[in-house]
Parts: sequence; structure tokens; C-alpha cells
Amino acid sequence: MPQWMSKKLQPYGASIFATLGRVARERKCVNLGQGFPDFDGPEAVKEAARQAIAAGHNQYAPLPGVPPLSSALAEKYREEAGLDFDPQTEITVLNGSTEAMYATLTALLEPGDEVIVFEPIYDTYLPVIQMNGAKVVAVPLEAPAFAFDPDRLTKAFSAKTRAIIINTPHNPTGRVFSEAEMTQIQQLCIEHDVIAITDEVYEHLVFDGHRHIHMAALPGMRERTITISSTAKTFSLTGWKIGYTLAPPEATEAIRRMHQFIAFAVATPLQHGIAAALQQRNTLIPQLAEEMNSKRDFLCNALADIGFNVSVPQGTFFALADFSPFSSEKDLDYALTLLKSEVAVATIPISVFYQHQNEAPTNYLRFCFAKTDATLQAGVAQLRRLKN
Ligand code: GLN
Repeated sequence: MPQWMSKKLQPYGASIFATLGRVARERKCVNLGQGFPDFDGPEAVKEAARQAIAAGHNQYAPLPGVPPLSSALAEKYREEAGLDFDPQTEITVLNGSTEAMYATLTALLEPGDEVIVFEPIYDTYLPVIQMNGAKVVAVPLEAPAFAFDPDRLTKAFSAKTRAIIINTPHNPTGRVFSEAEMTQIQQLCIEHDVIAITDEVYEHLVFDGHRHIHMAALPGMRERTITISSTAKTFSLTGWKIGYTLAPPEATEAIRRMHQFIAFAVATPLQHGIAAALQQRNTLIPQLAEEMNSKRDFLCNALADIGFNVSVPQGTFFALADFSPFSSEKDLDYALTLLKSEVAVATIPISVFYQHQNEAPTNYLRFCFAKTDATLQAGVAQLRRLKN
């Protein structure tokens, strides 16, 4: 029999989202695990995509993206952050931020480079960095506040540091990096001539007066930052997989070169749909943020009432809950216990987001609150069984 999987891929298992998601579906659990809304995006946006199909926008899109979408993105960042990106040379539409991150890292990294990441680390970064022969240098976000130690960050930079990935609002902790934190990262990037790669997919899900800061908007960073974001979470359309990069022309050229070998283009009618969504962003986005805020409050209050120690998130649509009042099991075991017992609720254990599992906290589960009120109520009702 042939050996199918290459050695570079063998160290990495199936994603936790796929694995637990399958069990959750089989057992018909309430799924508060994988981060996706169980409700649809706005009707007007779906209609715009349907119209694009009817109007014949069904062949390959241009490699960088369809012009109405690139222009709408340029307009969004000009208005929101005072950032001017040239749609022709600086904006690229990709298949979700996952492809954007893969294309970016693969286009930039040389073997032996070091990439700084904050840990817990979103699950795709580490394999992609390592498969490119580069080294992950992790800086912990330590429980319970999930802030980083400024000295640890300073020490993480070396002559080999090529890039730092900044995921804020942060999945899974819900941290929104403060101005002081962003400024320290900015200064270190400039001092060490390091590229900042951002993952800002939760940029519009920020609560309690916290403010999302775009790294590219800080002085000296526009020319050394690759901004990655997506419209999946912003418009509750995760299945459309429309993500993008905003980057200086030479970086954009490298990303596009890579994209041409991965996917070449992104679904044409869906890009038109998202261009329409962006036209309406000033009504759609605040509505969504407000809805998510009340879902966050509902779930966090309920979890606290049941007895979890809840880390109320500053952003994203995830809340971490310390379950040590209920069990001393490790998080992965406890997540399976919850799935398979009469509680039947799916969550995500956070130790899977650590490079070295033995350094990971094992008492936190991640709950997703981007769910209908009915799903959240059903989940909470099931979790209340823990109280008895
Ligand atoms: N971003 C989603 C999450 O964190 C998962 C995406 C995926 O399943 N790959 O839950």
C-alpha cells in the first residue's frame, strides 16, 4: 500500500472543530463548540448573491477579487481607520482568512525564520508555520486575565524573527489587545524590522467600550503590516469563505503569487453579495454587534449562575469558562464527558490551542454564543443539569 500522507503533514491531527463537531451532530447535542452562527446572514445580502448569479456573474473572478468588492473594502478601511489601500495593488480577496493566512505565511517564510505568536494559538497558524520550515515562538496569554507579560514579548524577538501574528480580538480568549499592548508590539516590530500579520476576523465583535485597534493604522506600521480579515463573522456568512488581505504592493504581489497556486480565484457571485453587504455596513454591523452583546450577556450570566468561573470576553463570540468547580478532569476529557453524558452540549477544550499540551491550562472550555436564542436557552437548560 502506498504511504499517502507526507511526513510534513503527519504530525498534525484532524481539527478539533471537525472531530467534536462530528460527535455533536451524531449525538444531536446542543452545539456551542465550533465558532459559527446557527442563523443566517442578512436577507438583503443573500438576495444580492442570488441576483449576481441571475445576472451571469458565474465565471472565474479576477485573481485579486471582483472590483466592486475591492473598492468596497478600500472604502470601509478609509472610513473606519483612515487607512488608504489601493484596490489594484494592495487588496486581495481570498477564500476566507484561513487561506489568507496560509498564502501569507507560505509566501513570506524561509526555513529557519521565527514567527512570534500569542498562545493559545488559533489552530491553523502553528502547522502552517512549521510546514514552511519556520519556528513558532509562543508568548503566553496567561489566565485568568489573558494578557501577555511585556518582558516575555521583548525576549521573544531575535535576529531570526521574521513576523509576529497578532490576533485581536483573540480566539479563544476573547481578549481585545489594549493600546499599550499594541504600542509595545508596534515598537518591537519597528526596532527589529519585523512584519506584523494580523488576524482581525472579529474586528466588529467588541464589547463594553473596548476598541479594536488596527495594527496597520499605528505610526510606522502601514508599510510593514499584512492585515487579514474576513466577512464571515461580520455578516454571519461563514460558509461563504470571503476573506482578504490588505498589504503593501510588494507583499500583495507575493500573496497573489501564492494564491494563484492555491485557489486562483474566489466564488464570483458571493464576492458580489459581500460587496452589497459592505454598502450596508453602517446599519448591518452595529445591529450584529448589539445582538452578539446580548447573547454574550445571556450566556455568561447563565454559566456563572450554573457555577462556572466565567471569563467575560471583551470581544469575539466566544466565552471561556473554568469548569474546576465541577470536575478535575482535563479539558478534552471533560468536553467529551459533557458531549456524551445527559448534558449533551458541545464545547471546545482550549488546551488544543497550545504548542506544548503539558504547558496548557486544562480547566477551560470555550463556549460559542453566536447562536439563536433558542439554541442558547436549550444549551443552558442542559447545562443546568450540572447543578443537580
Ligand atoms: N474559527 C472557527 C472557530 O474557532 C472554526 C473554523 C473551523 O472550523 N476551521 O471555532
